[in-house]
Amino acid sequence: MKTPSTAATATFGLEPAGYRKLLDQFTQARRILVYSGAGLSADSGLPTYRGAGRHLWTGDTVRRVATLEGYARDPAFAVEWYIEQGGWLHAARPHEGHRALQALDAFWQVTHVTQNVDVLLEAAGCAKVLHLHGRYDELRCLNCDWHGRAARPEDLRPPCPNCGGQRRPSIVWLGEMPDAALVAQAEADAAAAELVLVIGTPAEMYPGAAIVETAHRAGAGICVINPEWCENLHYAHWQLFGTAHAVLPGLARDALARRQAEGRAVPWYWRWLAEWVR
Ligand SMILES: [Zn+2]
Repeated sequence: MKTPSTAATATFGLEPAGYRKLLDQFTQARRILVYSGAGLSADSGLPTYRGAGRHLWTGDTVRRVATLEGYARDPAFAVEWYIEQGGWLHAARPHEGHRALQALDAFWQVTHVTQNVDVLLEAAGCAKVLHLHGRYDELRCLNCDWHGRAARPEDLRPPCPNCGGQRRPSIVWLGEMPDAALVAQAEADAAAAELVLVIGTPAEMYPGAAIVETAHRAGAGICVINPEWCENLHYAHWQLFGTAHAVLPGLARDALARRQAEGRAVPWYWRWLAEWVR
């Protein structure tokens, strides 16, 4: 049971002993998998499609822009909708939480598996990002195998240069499955990770939820960073209640400080010895 005194020193709802164990897990880990959703981008002003906010991903619009049938029936409506959304995505900038995640690259082998179609993790400089649901700035053709990059949102408008067909954004719509090779890569990295950070998503959608479960079964420590309790992640070892923007800078700072302190504890000849025995 929580007492007022422990609650006062708790870090985002986590008791001090639990927080120390989380930092221990960072120290012991070599590979980290970060599974992120809309909550990570929300602090950059992008809407969480099904949470609070501008509710753009609701009602009839979903059918018209995020299903193959809807898009093909009225491409003009869908294309203009995506160009408007693309303007927001194009203008969005990474926040302190994205930069904190990038800082982890210096000490850990980090794989990002994200449901987000924006490229804010790349903009922050994160080295390895797998887009489970595609990227808003990549395009495909409805008819043929053509695919390309959109330098600006309006690049969705012209016909396919290969067959003259209708272009579409290369994002995973309702009724479609993520790229199988990409899911396999994410599963492999999840199985190898010692620590998983689940950020800004209840991890209810499959196959994304299965990627976190794979890491858990393989023995990884699971840490959830989300303002609300995630029932689907009841098996997580830690839950930090807060937004990515609020939690990540402090968490990354503490984890890096602990890691650097561990590094200083290693005898001076250790590095030389490690080279010599190679
Ligand atoms: Zn084509």
